[in-house]
Amino acid sequence: MAQNVPITVAYGDGIGPEIMNATLDIIKAAGARIDIEEIEVGEKVYLRGISAGIEPSAWDSLARTKVFLKAPITTPQGGGYKSLNVTVRTAFSLYANVRPCVAYYPFVETKHPNMDVVIVRENEEDLYSGIEYQQTPTVMESIKLISRPGSEKIIRYAFEYARSNNRKKVTCFVKDNIMKQSDGLFHKVFDEIAAEYPDIENETWIVDIGAAKLADTPENFDVVVMPNLYGDILSDVAAQIAGSVGMAGGANIGDGFAMFEAIHGSAPRRAGQNLANPSGLLMGAVMMLVHIGQPDVATKVHNAWLRTLEDGIHTYDIYKEGISKQKVGTKEFAEAVIARIGQQPEKLKAVSYKESPARTTTTARAKSAELPTKKELVGVDVYLDWNKGSADELGAAVQKVNGDGLELKAIMNRGAKVWPHGLPYTFCTDHWRCRFQAVNADEAVTPAQIVSLLKRVYDAGFDAIKTENLYNFDGKAGYSKVPGD
Ligand code: NAD
Repeated sequence: MAQNVPITVAYGDGIGPEIMNATLDIIKAAGARIDIEEIEVGEKVYLRGISAGIEPSAWDSLARTKVFLKAPITTPQGGGYKSLNVTVRTAFSLYANVRPCVAYYPFVETKHPNMDVVIVRENEEDLYSGIEYQQTPTVMESIKLISRPGSEKIIRYAFEYARSNNRKKVTCFVKDNIMKQSDGLFHKVFDEIAAEYPDIENETWIVDIGAAKLADTPENFDVVVMPNLYGDILSDVAAQIAGSVGMAGGANIGDGFAMFEAIHGSAPRRAGQNLANPSGLLMGAVMMLVHIGQPDVATKVHNAWLRTLEDGIHTYDIYKEGISKQKVGTKEFAEAVIARIGQQPEKLKAVSYKESPARTTTTARAKSAELPTKKELVGVDVYLDWNKGSADELGAAVQKVNGDGLELKAIMNRGAKVWPHGLPYTFCTDHWRCRFQAVNADEAVTPAQIVSLLKRVYDAGFDAIKTENLYNFDGKAGYSKVPGD
């Protein structure tokens, strides 16, 4: 007899406890070999004054079991509360967010009967690092960070997932026509890693047209991997067009820790009425069972659930006159699934899970990856908070700090070049970026030159709010060029 696997469970808020009870009843009835450790997270904890929404003692259980099945929680209105999801994701480095979005046509209404897409979203980087600044009275900044190791981990995970789940294609969504450095790196790493998986088709779309195609013809997509923000938005779109956000589960995967959940929230208006659909959390639990090495139980649960949908036993959110046979509550839905354990669906495609996807080499560097070896300082962008006149007036004033081998080459305002030879039509804010380089722009400069430049800038009365060094890596510019140059 295999040993039970300890897992940490949180019942959450709103509909959370009802759907968690239903989910645990089903997986236990199917023979899940688990020992449950319960922890409290969410609203009650927030309202006790713990801004992270999780009791410090709960971390011990998570650190011990390394598997977390979490019902949705309510984040109280008002400032000061930190997202529990983000806290857990960052604490345990859960770099992959995996959301299968499947249509169950004709039993659940959808415009896309053949949809079966898995969104693999990078979970730790991008604009979600939460690094933000107010720089001037009118301008805020959010920093978008994309790293090579972060991209390698998530992209390799997507290909490994595709391989072990019999998927044929991995698609990458980026916006590297605009974000040439950050999304450009994600795209480059995708191409490098794709080359190691010749058995799996690969393609890349610019995210705007890619998103439009995903919403229009999702049946043309299989596994789609993307940076954090695009993945956050498009995984909700994908789940919704598959049928309902109430039907999709998600996994947050790290090396050695994983959290499983429904993708929807705590639906407070439906709480306590035995109405909610437990399917999203149940699908999260199925992914958990595969993860903890119980694919046999996962298969039983998933097939019994498909059979229940097929038999027209539906909760209110998917109930449709003419398609559904019986409108049931959360509890009755769970009982119907339990009654079908051991059965297969007859029309929907039955599933058959194998051992957990390999979680071995997600950190391995792409074989063809060559890191640059030579890093050379070639200038600095000095950002100014300034509202005393036109770009030409600023240009004339800033040129006076030229010297010691550095000279002002250009001034940009929110990305537009406004000096020299700016257009009178360009709207300017109080946020200016002044680019200084050696007289011969390709020549290296020293940190000492930059320090003395900054002193001259401050001495001239300018409010320098930030500097960003310009580097060449192996002779190639590691910064965005002046637009139009
Ligand atoms: P929601 O997902 O809770 O609800 C959106 C809509 O979907 C509602 O009409 C709701 O009734 C319906 N719905 C959701 N799940 C359902 C289910 N299982 N069965 C039937 N109907 C269902 O989103 P919201 O209303 O924007 O957020 C409510 C609360 O949930 C907020 O406090 C939010 O912060 C929180 N939230 C938590 C998580 C999480 O814990 N992972 C995720 C999203 C939102």
